Amino acid sequence: MGLKVLVASSEIYPYSKTGGLGDFAHGLLKYLNRIGVQAFGISPLYKSVDRERFGIKKTGKILRVFLKERLYEFELYTDGKNYFLYNPELFDREHIYGPPGEAYPDNDLRFGAFSWAVSLAILEGLIEADIIHSNDWQTALIPLISKEVLKLPQKHVFTIHNLAYQGIFGRDTLYTLNLPEYLFTPEGIEYYGNLNFMKAGIIYSDKMTTVSPTYAYQITTPEYGEGLDGLIRKYAYKLRGILNGIDYEVWNPETDPYIDFKYSAQNLEGKYWNKKKLCEEMEIDFKKPLFIFINRLTKQKGVEIVLRALPEMAERKANFIFLGSGEYEQEFLKRIGSYPNIKLINRYDEVLSRRLYGAGDFVLMPSLFEPCGLTQMIGMRYGCIPVVRETGGLADTVIDLHKGGYGITFLSPRWEEFICAVDRALELYENTKRFNSLRKRVMELDFSAERMAREYLGVYEECLAS
Ligand code: ADP
Repeated sequence: MGLKVLVASSEIYPYSKTGGLGDFAHGLLKYLNRIGVQAFGISPLYKSVDRERFGIKKTGKILRVFLKERLYEFELYTDGKNYFLYNPELFDREHIYGPPGEAYPDNDLRFGAFSWAVSLAILEGLIEADIIHSNDWQTALIPLISKEVLKLPQKHVFTIHNLAYQGIFGRDTLYTLNLPEYLFTPEGIEYYGNLNFMKAGIIYSDKMTTVSPTYAYQITTPEYGEGLDGLIRKYAYKLRGILNGIDYEVWNPETDPYIDFKYSAQNLEGKYWNKKKLCEEMEIDFKKPLFIFINRLTKQKGVEIVLRALPEMAERKANFIFLGSGEYEQEFLKRIGSYPNIKLINRYDEVLSRRLYGAGDFVLMPSLFEPCGLTQMIGMRYGCIPVVRETGGLADTVIDLHKGGYGITFLSPRWEEFICAVDRALELYENTKRFNSLRKRVMELDFSAERMAREYLGVYEECLAS
């Protein structure tokens, strides 16, 4: 019998996705199965999940989660590949975590009760697994509940995708979620009088990973540790940085159903026509270089740097298209009001994102910190030269031209450096021959999810051997 792995995640593409976590869970599950692991995902059955399209059906099994004040019932669903837990009161809502830039006030209950239900599914034998792999704060209570509270024998891997979101709630959450009082200490899941979900994953997992080698080091430092660097240093012996990968079957300009003209590293002609069509629709000059930015509009993604650089960008002979929503969208719209060469499409739109990757010349990622970043990897796969800040996973995936690499990087999170990087990109664009040869080179790099899945298999095997 092969190894059985249950991957618990609050997002799994294509069922649900708000960012890189959804892509990660999808790629990991798909390629673990390809290499002979029996891997299943489990996530909440949100209102937005298209049950019909994916053939998601009831199993007839119900998990009863008795919390302090009341009972929450979860119906177990499956499409034959992954599991879903359904509780209409907690998950039949318009958004996954809350409206843009906000969080639902009962997210502790929503994801805490979900984590109980996952653990009970294992306890009751409805789902069999040797390893449970949880991700980020939403599922970080699973190792604690399964191992510490229910004393289940499974091994636990926990992956930190972004330490900036830790799931910190008031002390009351301990009672709401029926967690033992003795865990509420600074060595346990207490965090300055509050309860911290992320701490549970860090403490109770057998192995801990994060999504790039550079970020694995950074989170042990005060600068990037978000207040948990001390705890992470304590558990650093079980921490490993594994670079995320993308599914090259999903992200492929030769087959992408949403781009009008398919192309490859060998024949880039289609990219020219994609750019022409998109620029005409957006009423911008297609002969100018096109910079794209596809990301959440949050501080993390360097939006403040971009806002300060806007007047300079407006003077460049280039077009900039931003696709993203989040806390900065209104301010962004206000500031670009009169600049014809800078556009913001403030929504989540997968089809447009693919058309942008298919048309873009450069992909921008001026992040303040970046655990891994998938946008630059997807951009490169589609022949966009990356212009990124050298941090976290960006430092692991983009090598600067000056170092014999294929991208443009800058170090200091200042708008002046960002503009210098944009100017270097413009200079590169002038040298058509060099630009095109770099384009081919980035398209042929290997940031595949298959490589990532093999590395995770190694972690699971180490877990079982220990
Ligand atoms: P994060 O996980 O921090 O949000 P990543 O770079 O790891 O950032 O992953 C971002 C993923 O989300 C990529 O697949 C990107 O294409 C997608 N994405 C981000 N914003 C949007 C948007 N507004 N519309 C469509 N896709 C988006």
